[in-house]
Amino acid sequence: MYHPLRTLTLASLVGLFAASCATSPTGQRQLSLVSDSQMASLGNTAYNDMKKTIPISKDPAQTAYVNCIANAITTELNDKQAWEVTLFDDDQVNAFALPGGKIGVYTGLLKVAETPDQLAAVMGHEVAHVLADHGKARYSANLAGQAGLLAGQILIGASSSSNKRGAMAALGIGLQFGVMMPYGRSHETEADVLGLDMLAKAGFDPRASTQLWRNMAAANPGAPPEFMSTHPAATTRIDNLQKRMPKAMNIYQQARSSGRIPNCRIPV
Ligand SMILES: [Zn+2]
Repeated sequence: MYHPLRTLTLASLVGLFAASCATSPTGQRQLSLVSDSQMASLGNTAYNDMKKTIPISKDPAQTAYVNCIANAITTELNDKQAWEVTLFDDDQVNAFALPGGKIGVYTGLLKVAETPDQLAAVMGHEVAHVLADHGKARYSANLAGQAGLLAGQILIGASSSSNKRGAMAALGIGLQFGVMMPYGRSHETEADVLGLDMLAKAGFDPRASTQLWRNMAAANPGAPPEFMSTHPAATTRIDNLQKRMPKAMNIYQQARSSGRIPNCRIPV
């Protein structure tokens, strides 16, 4: 039986594929079926929902500390997004960043990321996922898996709860708020490398990143945080970071000598 609509849909999807492979900052090819503004819109919606649902920290010193680090990193990005960070009052050892320039940090993370440099390492990693369009690649892959639906239709239908959950999962937020969906190995490695450069460029010591991952491995009895997904293993990850360290140290020293010395004090 001939289904004109189905044929049209598949043809459109093929067309989308042909025109929609993007290259990530480290040269990985990835699928891109949605626009930056659509991703930003999804990110903003998710973030606003989270701010309504999860308690926000009322501790001014901790909030200022987290803002100080986020600002130091994002002002060096040369992108046009107005970045925003929220400190959520929750014991999870976790953080995330969403398209649209939205960063979330949980107060539980402050107990494990013991220094400003270590906290910067987490934030650099999360922001790197956004800049490398990893959420977009994952969302595009989800869309591509749903033959018969066009990207636009899914986005338009994102107000229905099941599609909204799909979008949230692709952004890394999962079915319930706070449950982070691990990225794949290639995305994790890329976020580690880009994140390392990013924190060094802001004048944070990139060597703190390896200690951070050790702290994470030690303090991770429950569900793995986004950045501690089962792959790559913590040891592989530390090896990869060490390989990149000489380049990151150059960036760091240049940043420091040109006056980028962040002054973010740990709240006492
Ligand atoms: Zn990650």
